[in-house]
Amino acid sequence: MSEIKEPRLKRPKMSETVDNFIDNIINMKKNLHAVLGDEFHSSIPLLQVYTGHVRDLKQLSKIIVILNEKIQLKEMQHLKRARKKDVLLCPTDYVSHDVKSEDSVQKYLEEHIPELKDAFEFFKITEVPLLAPKLKRQHEEFSKIWSCNFHPNKYLEKLCGNEFFAEDELTSHRLYMGMTFEIARFYLSQMNSSLEMTDIILRDTNATVIVDPSTKSVVAVAFDNRQYHPVQHSAMLAIDNVAKTQNGGAWDTATDVKDVSLRGIEIELLVHLKEKFPNVKFGARTYLTKNALNESKMSVSGSPYLCTGYYVYLMREPCVMCSMGLVHARANRVFYCLKNNRKGALGSKTKLQCVSSLNHHFEVFTDFL
Ligand SMILES: [Zn+2]
Repeated sequence: MSEIKEPRLKRPKMSETVDNFIDNIINMKKNLHAVLGDEFHSSIPLLQVYTGHVRDLKQLSKIIVILNEKIQLKEMQHLKRARKKDVLLCPTDYVSHDVKSEDSVQKYLEEHIPELKDAFEFFKITEVPLLAPKLKRQHEEFSKIWSCNFHPNKYLEKLCGNEFFAEDELTSHRLYMGMTFEIARFYLSQMNSSLEMTDIILRDTNATVIVDPSTKSVVAVAFDNRQYHPVQHSAMLAIDNVAKTQNGGAWDTATDVKDVSLRGIEIELLVHLKEKFPNVKFGARTYLTKNALNESKMSVSGSPYLCTGYYVYLMREPCVMCSMGLVHARANRVFYCLKNNRKGALGSKTKLQCVSSLNHHFEVFTDFL
């Protein structure tokens, strides 16, 4: 096991016992927060543009029709073309003159749209929002700079608020997160005679619980095995354990459980967790192979691909490898409790969930403490 690391983590009080700590995670009423892209938090990125002040307001709509045809601003569809008597002409980069000035934009118009050469009283260089507003709050802010098109998204507004999860949902998310710490305690206590909460929190280790929310059942769990195998981080093991409930799995860490639906959880740990969490269900939905599906004529939706639709609970923010593993496994939501300032890929070092070029995206939630 590696030495104590990550001094910036929230530490439990010295008096706090493992039981106390897990109780707090499970019973706290504080709602969770989504870990969103920078575009929701950072200051507005701006783009420098030329605007023209129209001489005759009656000509405005005609001018806009001509501009929309001659200087299309495809990447700036979120911006309205006019703001009172000022019309958005083009980004200053479009005008290829050494010195950006009123003269150069006048020349540009004469060259490209001669019919508008006398339409403007004067020109200005100004800045406009580069990105479209996603939230009402942003729309209000952006509109102070330039008028923007905006279609409110109820889901996003809720996701960015403080009451995303209803009380019963919050209760179950907190319960499963408490279970990740219980798993860490289970394995660490086998290695240590006296285990303090700080041992669990400060060790650079992780525990994972994967839940099928459609059946409210724990499908697979795992604890780090990094000290013996470089890639057997808990999330990777947990994904492999999910595969075992689907007649797959690459690592020989499976138990000899006959019931395939319970192959995602080591038998001794399962007994322990059932005792600690008597109201929690364990086991995966019955998995059918493609052939069996064809024969039974059941819909494919009855049989998940790896973590499709599943929620993943991690004690600690996962690293890049584990996060990519969860992308490939098609996890639906990922929850983590402790930040991983040095290696975390879902908020600390990077936000993999916001990389638009990836072909799958999951939602990420934290703020359990
Ligand atoms: Zn990892």
